[in-house]
Amino acid sequence: FPLVKEFDPEVYAAMEKELKRQQGNLELIASENLVTERVIQAMGNHLTNKYAEGYPGKRYYGGCEYVDIAESLAKERIEKLFGAEYSNVQPHSGAQANLAVYFALLEPGDTVLGMNLSHGGHLTHGSPVNMSGVNYRFIAYGVDKETELLDYEELDRIAKESRPKLIVAGASAYPRIIDFERIGKIAKEVGALFMVDMAHIAGLVAAGVHPSPIPYADVVTTTTHKTLRGPRGGAILCKKELGKAIDKAVFPGTQGGPLMHIIAAKAVALKEALSDEFIVYQKQVVANAKILSEVLMDKGFKLLSNGTDNHLMLMDLRNIHLTGKDAEAMLDEVQITANKNAVPYDTEKPFITSGIRLGTPTVTARGMKEAQMETIGEAIYQCLIRKDKKIARDLVVELCREFPIYR
Ligand code: PLP
Repeated sequence: FPLVKEFDPEVYAAMEKELKRQQGNLELIASENLVTERVIQAMGNHLTNKYAEGYPGKRYYGGCEYVDIAESLAKERIEKLFGAEYSNVQPHSGAQANLAVYFALLEPGDTVLGMNLSHGGHLTHGSPVNMSGVNYRFIAYGVDKETELLDYEELDRIAKESRPKLIVAGASAYPRIIDFERIGKIAKEVGALFMVDMAHIAGLVAAGVHPSPIPYADVVTTTTHKTLRGPRGGAILCKKELGKAIDKAVFPGTQGGPLMHIIAAKAVALKEALSDEFIVYQKQVVANAKILSEVLMDKGFKLLSNGTDNHLMLMDLRNIHLTGKDAEAMLDEVQITANKNAVPYDTEKPFITSGIRLGTPTVTARGMKEAQMETIGEAIYQCLIRKDKKIARDLVVELCREFPIYR
């Protein structure tokens, strides 16, 4: 970025340091990924100049004929990738996508079911500190205390008692397959609409390594930057008959002008996601998570539900007498980046927590496979249980050297 370097050395220095951090750290944050340089090019360019309120062919500004092409391609590709009838690729983020769906389908005060945040749900699924929880009457369902698996019977019971207008499924920190068919049936039985927020697992769904919510849900939201491996942003998929209402709720309902550079980058990432290599990548993400979870459990770590079916796992640190906050800081010292996370029925405060969430999308994008997961497990063990930071850091540094990024 020579022009930034010359004009604004302060911002450039921050960019340079962040690049070095990404290159030299093992990124195990489950919601992050690495985009290709193709996606970076599509994102960082003159398309940012264009105002394009409205939708392809129906804009409130002139000169939109070329950005229309980019947006139409993104729409076509995401609909093909997921087998969806209709899409909106304008949400600036996952939170914006969810907000727009609520605005389209609900009236203030309506009853909605969402997964408990401390059991793995997301802030936008009814947390009292989020607009969703302020505007709608969200009731939480969660996981069984013993099995730590989604308690579908409890969900069924709550749905029958509360007769919600909408059931929201999807999670930020749930390591198992979600049975969308079963939740869809519950929604039908109580006359509720069914929304799935597949932000975390969208890449897995696209590659067929997690069952798709599309046949069962009225609306599906996603982020484009997690397992889907695109630019930071959101998207909504829905049945054709809801398309108009969803479009209206995104613009003018909750957003202004779309980010056309990001939409172009979404289109490029979606073209990548339609390739055979993407399926191989997603299978490896899941295989890597499985191996890493087994290695960690062998070394004495407790994982919620004793493992994983997807790209992430949650460590419950109480048996090794660490908090999530401390473990996050210790891992950071050996150049492993992860995030503290509440575990179900956690007694620690949200800023402390008793857990750590780990995911394999980024290390898999670097090319790491089963053998490297063994090394990562060893590094985590050396750091958190043996407390030998030198051994842990040496293992991490060597892995990052062997699997370079953005050279
Ligand atoms: N939905 C789920 C399930 C998420 O995990 C997240 C992000 O962590 C979001 C929505 C929000 O996405 P964004 O950060 O793009 O607003």
